[in-house]
Amino acid sequence: MTALDRLAARLEAVGDVRRDEAMSRHTTFGVGGPADIYVTVRSADALAQAARLATEADAGPFVLGSGSNIVVADGGIRGVVIDNRARNEEHEEHRVRIESGASFAGFARKMCRAGVAGLAWAVGIPGTLGGAVVYNAGAYGGCLADVLTRVRLLDAAEGDAWWTASDLNLTYRGSAFTRGTLAGRTVLEAELELGAGDADALIAEAGGYDRRRLTAQPRGRNAGSMFTNPPESPAWKLIDSVGLRGERRGDAAISDQHTNFFVNLGQARASDVLWLVEEAERRVLGTHGIQLRREVGFVGAW
Ligand SMILES: Cc1cc2nc3c(=O)[nH]c(=O)nc-3n(C[C@H](O)[C@H](O)[C@H](O)COP(=O)(O)OP(=O)(O)OC[C@H]3O[C@@H](n4cnc5c(N)ncnc54)[C@H](O)[C@@H]3O)c2cc1C
Repeated sequence: MTALDRLAARLEAVGDVRRDEAMSRHTTFGVGGPADIYVTVRSADALAQAARLATEADAGPFVLGSGSNIVVADGGIRGVVIDNRARNEEHEEHRVRIESGASFAGFARKMCRAGVAGLAWAVGIPGTLGGAVVYNAGAYGGCLADVLTRVRLLDAAEGDAWWTASDLNLTYRGSAFTRGTLAGRTVLEAELELGAGDADALIAEAGGYDRRRLTAQPRGRNAGSMFTNPPESPAWKLIDSVGLRGERRGDAAISDQHTNFFVNLGQARASDVLWLVEEAERRVLGTHGIQLRREVGFVGAW
């Protein structure tokens, strides 16, 4: 029995375990090789336990939300991937405590229908609450920082504690997680402060955002915007200006509808996506002197 076999056996007690699970099945981009151990958990406690077991065994973990903001390497991910489906919610007036594996868009839509204001802008953002905290997800002038009060974070060695949102350094598509100071901690739960609203008005507002998305964004498999927008110019304009609209490498392409969307036309490989991303970075830097910053995370064994 190998160390991974022993770890997999221990993880069976906290969730459903699979071995050599193709990550392409669990990312919106549809690329990525196998995870050594893939464990699905359904509560914040199970998430914490799985993270502790993987850390003790020096086998990650990589905490996966909906896989909507990552490109996983063709070589896959060594150690443990935790598929977070902890989705419990507790409501007290307009204050909500919600586990980090809940669907952010699904929750936002539910709040609109219930006449609870504060999240109409989020109805089209794929992903979990945990992923939304890490990237301070936002759209149409709103972002999670506007409504987030605190989060329960796990440090696998030190235990868990509630952190106020102001300590997470949430900025445009970034946080203390993406900047490295909280890397390795797991978001177990989040607390949001929402407000009273009118259900009909919120549903109409959300419908307007849905229509804007439908016209602006390409269909098919992708991970949303590849780069954040530099202060000088939107990323799509910079990529367009260096002649990359519609550029292809294998089945990976830069969308001809929206040049900040990189898409999988069928059987794309992660290495082809990376090649296109690096080509865009090279050309934009060479032509405009601007270093593009990736919004999408490149994870695994590159
Ligand atoms: C079509 C499309 C449109 C999009 N539009 C938008 C948009 O308008 N605005 C926007 O902000 N984003 C947008 N995105 C990007 C994406 O939806 C968000 O970044 C989302 O918040 C990512 O959540 P996730 O659960 O999918 O994270 P994943 O992709 O699963 O993970 C991303 C990172 O977060 C970490 N992570 C996830 N959960 C946890 C946790 N519980 N604890 C610690 N770390 C964790 C992962 O380890 C990984 O490093 C879009 C994506 C797509 C595909």
